[in-house]
Amino acid sequence: MNDKGTQKIAIVTGGASGLGFAIAQKLVCKKITTIIVGRNAQKLQEAKSQLGEFCHIRVADLTTLEAIPAWVEMIVNEFGKIDVLVNNAGINMKKPTTEVTDLEFQQIIQTNLTSVFTLSREVSKHMIRAGEGNIVNISSMAAHYGIPKVVAYTASKSAIEGMTRSLAVDLSPLGIRVNCVAPGFIETNMSAAALNSDPERKNRVLARTPMGKLGVPQDVANAVYFLTSDEASFITGAVLPVDGGNSIGF
Ligand code: NDP
Repeated sequence: MNDKGTQKIAIVTGGASGLGFAIAQKLVCKKITTIIVGRNAQKLQEAKSQLGEFCHIRVADLTTLEAIPAWVEMIVNEFGKIDVLVNNAGINMKKPTTEVTDLEFQQIIQTNLTSVFTLSREVSKHMIRAGEGNIVNISSMAAHYGIPKVVAYTASKSAIEGMTRSLAVDLSPLGIRVNCVAPGFIETNMSAAALNSDPERKNRVLARTPMGKLGVPQDVANAVYFLTSDEASFITGAVLPVDGGNSIGF
């Protein structure tokens, strides 16, 4: 993708913060026009001021599924095409299973899974016409083993990995690669606060991580960029853990 960088158009959902911001930062560094999406206009504006001229912002609540087809159409009309879609936006909720309401469960599924399907379906229609494209979904270690008190989040991330494989078999013959990155324990403001306030949990995380440390958002961004690049031209349907070995640690 490097040489043709200026012609590439990417969408990063949830690109104003955390891992999405690092992913957007990586793509703009590669001179890829990157549209970051979120619900909070001010947060997007602040991110854009750091990301610079290759960054564009769009305010959208992706759980409003019925608005997505026209929204994608508008992006294509304005930017000409979409080469890369990074489905990064996601929400989590930590609560004992018996206290999770049906509405809370559905809200997490709607954000982390259903909107990813709708957006991928609409974007892939344009990619199919172009005969090429890349979709990268963001999963989690929660899809790989049982983490307590995150039942809806775990369900959504497990489904994302299955959906990645299904989309890959449907779309790869049409020129679109679909892959997934499963971050392990990554140091963001939120996770650092959570782990530092619970030293036992932090020790448990580090003890089963062969590399003995947390990751940084740039580790995830590098993996996402790799999967969207020509360096990964024969990789599709893969789930790539970026976790310092946490998922294979004993
Ligand atoms: P953040 O909370 O920092 O970022 C999530 C982003 O998603 C926000 O920018 C938010 O923007 C956006 N978002 C949420 N809901 C919607 C919506 N309905 N419509 C549009 N945008 C939305 O989280 P992280 O960076 O930590 O997480 C990013 C992804 O990585 C998630 O999918 C998460 O599950 C996954 N992940 C994170 C790990 C970590 O250690 N941080 C580990 C494993 C996986 P706004 O509020 O403006 O809408």
